[in-house]
Amino acid sequence: MNRFYSLNDYFKETFGEKIYKVSLDGGFTCPNRDGTLSYKGCVFCSERGSGDFAGKREKPIYDQIEEQLKLIEKKFPTGKVVAYFQNFTNTYGDKEYLKKVYMEALSHPRVMGIAIATRPDCIDDDVLELLDELNKKYFLWVELGLQTINEQVATFINRQYLLETYKETAKRLSNKNIKFVTHIIVGLPHEKETDPLNTALYAQECGTWGIKIHLLHVLKNTQLEELYKKNEIKFQKKMEYVKKVVKILQNMSYNIVIHRITGDGNKKELIGPEWSANKRDVLNSITKYMKENNIVQGDELQKMGE
Ligand code: SF4
Repeated sequence: MNRFYSLNDYFKETFGEKIYKVSLDGGFTCPNRDGTLSYKGCVFCSERGSGDFAGKREKPIYDQIEEQLKLIEKKFPTGKVVAYFQNFTNTYGDKEYLKKVYMEALSHPRVMGIAIATRPDCIDDDVLELLDELNKKYFLWVELGLQTINEQVATFINRQYLLETYKETAKRLSNKNIKFVTHIIVGLPHEKETDPLNTALYAQECGTWGIKIHLLHVLKNTQLEELYKKNEIKFQKKMEYVKKVVKILQNMSYNIVIHRITGDGNKKELIGPEWSANKRDVLNSITKYMKENNIVQGDELQKMGE
């Protein structure tokens, strides 16, 4: 029995087959890194703009797809993939450039759709028009890095946009029937116990199609590393994280697609927490806890009669 509605479940249910994602670097930067809003970026942002396993930025998109497909050739020799524009802010550029890179990905015979990671303050009317145009012809979703609804924590992590901006962008995307996924981080410095759950509930209210839950982990060469050295970061214990994730899952309707429930940092760059390096173990701990306690996604909503 599936205890939550994973992206795999969604793909199988919707397209009747397994579909992989290939991560691409579209050559973008970010207003939070290029000085438009700040030079520092979000405190957790890695050197590669939070896309450490993506294709090589100097290569054309088509070639990056080929290379990424080679990496998964043994386990996935022939199936379809979603081209995931992951690094930095993938709607931060002029419309012609955006269209060019998106279409280059969509021109690959094994690409059945695209996923675009961005910031809610980087979807202006021109970009929305382009996304709308593509969404009518192709399978597409957009990813928004919300991380938290606690505005003080958002300031601390240097997110550089207000919660209201997320809400407005969510509404504009929903009005165009464009699916969006919301990123949440569990274990941020200074967050309150209930912040991760409240953030997920807020995203749900705003119409999110999917949720990506990350655990806070410290990577080398990030601002978090500096904070860690100053003893300003406390690592959460694995079971604390597991319980918070499960609480979120219990409060998400069963039609919200769960894209991720753990982190995926580069192990070579990881400072801590150590347990986060064993992704399989974190996933197993979450499903084991759900099984032992007879929990499934959305069961708390059902108890409330929703
Ligand atoms: S918005 Fe994304 S790319 Fe920009 S600084 Fe934050 S994590 Fe990095």
